[in-house]
Amino acid sequence: EPTLDADFFIRWLDAAAAAVARDADRLTELDAAIGDADHGSNLNRGFAAVTRRLTEKPPNAPGAVLTGAGRTLISSVGGASGPLYGTLLRRAGKELGDAPRVSRVQLAEALRSGVGAVAELGGAGGGDKTMLDALQPAVEGLTRSFGAAATAAEEGALATVPLRARRGRAAYLGDRSIGHQDPGAASSALLIGALADTATR
Ligand code: ADP
Ligand code: MG
Ligand code: MG
Repeated sequence: EPTLDADFFIRWLDAAAAAVARDADRLTELDAAIGDADHGSNLNRGFAAVTRRLTEKPPNAPGAVLTGAGRTLISSVGGASGPLYGTLLRRAGKELGDAPRVSRVQLAEALRSGVGAVAELGGAGGGDKTMLDALQPAVEGLTRSFGAAATAAEEGALATVPLRARRGRAAYLGDRSIGHQDPGAASSALLIGALADTATR
């Protein structure tokens, strides 16, 4: 399996931006059910800014691609998801340091740190019906393969449907959050799906 360079990370985030743009309406509909109907537009704005920045100023190390993208998300997304995804990417990028190439397993370890930082920032854990329900299993899957990460993220996102939200806006709904997929878990599955697509293309 080839190692991953800065160009790979740029192609991943471009693919993630395309997936978010394509599914923005679906993400916003999910957020309309248990939130404030802005998740698709929030992320679409953020990832469009990420793509623009990467085109203007492409970094030459994987870590720098992720920290830069994280910074852009934090500054361009108004909702809770901006600082959370921004923290995920910034922390993961920091873990990768300035290595010119990294392995899939190194990326999994870096993302595990990032997921830990998201949990710390938002005070959520597994089963709270948030993006963590897709991201935590995705990181474990990524230690095995890109495909396992994508499948685990998708399954984790779908498994949020019967859960009662305990963090974020949806928590205000209490039992009325049950029966709906968490929008952030759905977008996390898109981001991890884009990673697997980029690796296997
Ligand atoms: P907002 O709720 O501010 O409108 P978004 O709609 O963009 O922000 O994002 C909502 C998503 O953010 C949720 O579906 C959930 O996955 C995630 N989220 C919200 N709060 C938290 C938290 N404390 N920890 C982890 N994820 C969270
Ligand atoms: Mg929202
Ligand atoms: Mg909002």
